[in-house]
Amino acid sequence: MAPVLGNCRLCLTHDVELQESHIIPKWASKRLRAVGSTRNPNPITITYGQAVQKSNQITEKMLCAHCEQMVGRSEKYVAKLAYGADGEPVPLSILGISLTDAFSAIGSGISIANLHTDKIVYFASSVVWRASVAHRHDTGKPRIGRRYQEEFRSYLLGSASFPKNARLVLGILVQPANAPHPRHNIVSFPATGRYGGYHRHVFFICGLYFELCIGSQMPK
Ligand SMILES: [Zn+2]
Repeated sequence: MAPVLGNCRLCLTHDVELQESHIIPKWASKRLRAVGSTRNPNPITITYGQAVQKSNQITEKMLCAHCEQMVGRSEKYVAKLAYGADGEPVPLSILGISLTDAFSAIGSGISIANLHTDKIVYFASSVVWRASVAHRHDTGKPRIGRRYQEEFRSYLLGSASFPKNARLVLGILVQPANAPHPRHNIVSFPATGRYGGYHRHVFFICGLYFELCIGSQMPK
């Protein structure tokens, strides 16, 4: 296919060859492809947001090769934290915690020394930002507003720190025994909800739950 030239939406360089960007990372769609096979016959469950059935096709040419690579780096780390294609549990050992620790932390949070929170925050921001700047209509289209869109663009580009009026919550979905819908098969585009003085953009990827809150009046 002939290269498509355009303006990179991240670094704003004009007339560069644009790469096919996945809104939801490629590794997540690969894990979902096991759905429907005899190995993993259960359907995808979506609590809210939009189901990704053919996520390998949810792409858009929006970034130059350099930016595409930069954004992709954080995806590799998060891929290690997510559930495997056959529902292997999240490798808590790489986080240095036991399942008991994880359960006791529910609702209160846990401090994990060797968790690369910078990569997780970058990743979640990039998913929400990419979905918000996509021209396609099937990406959840989170409404983050022009001002925050620009703040996130600068942050993702490495020229600013994480926006002051933003917080990220990461949750790991626990797979109850005999649950009909495997948590690791849940993948969704960001869905936006408004709560008083802030917006919450929520999405799921292979057993991980991300909640990016943006607004000037955030709960403590
Ligand atoms: Zn670029």
